[in-house]
Amino acid sequence: MYLTLDRMFDLTVQNNGKKEAIVDLTKNKRLTYEEWQVEVNQLANALRSAGVEKGDRVSTLLFNSYELGTTLFACAQLGAIFNPINFRLQPQEVEYILADAEPKVVMFETALEPIIASLYSKFTNISFWCINEQTPGFAVNYHERVQQASSERINVEMTEDDDYAIMYTSGTTGRPKGVVHAHRNMMEQSIACIAHLGVSPKERGLVTAPMFHCAELHCNFIPRVHAGCTNIILHHFEPKKVLASIEQEKVTSVFAAPTMWNMLIQEDVSAYQIESLQFGTYGAAPMAPALVTACRETLGIDLIQAYGMTEMGPAITFLAKDEQVDKAGSAGRAAFNHDIRVVRPVEDGRAEPEDVMPPGEVGEIIVRGPSMMREYYKRPDATSEVLYKGWYYSGDLGYMDEEHYLYVADRVRDMVISGGENIYPREVEDVLHAHAGILDVAVLGEPDEVWGESVVAVVVKKDSALTEEALDTYCKESNALANYKRPRRYVFVEELPRNASGKIQKFLLREQFKQESASS
Ligand code: ATP
Repeated sequence: MYLTLDRMFDLTVQNNGKKEAIVDLTKNKRLTYEEWQVEVNQLANALRSAGVEKGDRVSTLLFNSYELGTTLFACAQLGAIFNPINFRLQPQEVEYILADAEPKVVMFETALEPIIASLYSKFTNISFWCINEQTPGFAVNYHERVQQASSERINVEMTEDDDYAIMYTSGTTGRPKGVVHAHRNMMEQSIACIAHLGVSPKERGLVTAPMFHCAELHCNFIPRVHAGCTNIILHHFEPKKVLASIEQEKVTSVFAAPTMWNMLIQEDVSAYQIESLQFGTYGAAPMAPALVTACRETLGIDLIQAYGMTEMGPAITFLAKDEQVDKAGSAGRAAFNHDIRVVRPVEDGRAEPEDVMPPGEVGEIIVRGPSMMREYYKRPDATSEVLYKGWYYSGDLGYMDEEHYLYVADRVRDMVISGGENIYPREVEDVLHAHAGILDVAVLGEPDEVWGESVVAVVVKKDSALTEEALDTYCKESNALANYKRPRRYVFVEELPRNASGKIQKFLLREQFKQESASS
């Protein structure tokens, strides 16, 4: 008996057949596990009839939908490799991924037709399947194919070392890279998430962060299927709809990126009955301790933090509900069966895994564990840059305390060096986030003739009267920041550029400043 996703799905159906598996709120579709299994089997047969075999790729360009989950498990049954693509990408970025992944089938939404319409003639080997009724002429209709297909389960010889998915990183560090995960990695990740999040079969989890990203898909959606829970799917994140859905569907847990939690608590939460909510999870980007506290006060729930990266499945540490106060600012301790070290940062090189930093001292975070990717698809050079002696080198800086709690300082490339001193923008952001007049903030370095770099804070105001002078005084009086860490300049903006998983795209801000200083 192998630990593969299709066998996990069979066991869940066997044990929870009559239970509600899926509630797709946009389509008003409710499926028990038995009903869902019929559609998974039918889709697997339909894909096989279209020529999809073990090892072939099937991509999705979909909003959150039950069809995305159905495609995932149909691929697992066929031994095909599931490839969810970020629907917010530009057509040329999607083109890059399609050319790299070479899928046989791409599932898409009518609303995303403009992207596909500009591409389909370049990919004559790909069959495009539309999941909505209005299917463009160049595509086939997903539901028609499913209805015509047999519901017999297909059995393909597989082991847990066979590939399950290729997930493309969002490309904040350059061209997207396809992270290849085997079934084993995903099953291990799922078990770790069930254990650390305390997923119980009674859970009714709301899916509102993008399902194409591993934080929602691997840490929440799949573990809930594994544990026989109900996944309630919202097309996309909309704060009022999230609160209304929690009330309507008696939701017990929600995962959201920090920026989404921030948007939720700006709403009039008291207008909704959200007592069913038992906990929330955050991750994918740092969350200021002040925001964690504000969530507890406004929503009446404790949050659990997960930290990680696509390459590791993603979660590698968890900070439990009852650790949020005592260990505020920490990302928690290593997930079960994961080994994390902080090693000496080496300029233009790589530290040995044995070169471990003492507690409290910042270095590069490295990790090994069973949910580690196999490789970057077709990129042996990029793979050997990050995988060394069985460890994954994350490119994140951080430190461990005496009790092995990890503190993520920042990404290596986001660190600011001013007058020879290292400044971790996250520390400055956490201080500014605690200011009541600030809604959102990003801190970064900009070239400085005297100091090499100086700190600039890009701020979204909550209080329109907020001034640069007031913020400078606040930083001085907070006594939390050494003089050289205080922003030398504040830039006020309407919104910060963020990617689909909620990360601030600092490279876009840096480019903007570079262009501004070149034209001034
Ligand atoms: P790329 O690697 O191309 O930049 P990406 O940003 O999409 O792509 P992800 O795997 O989505 O890559 O993000 C991983 C990074 O997100 C981590 O290395 C870390 O910097 C950040 N991150 C994730 N969770 C947390 C967290 N809880 N706290 C702080 N940072 C986090």
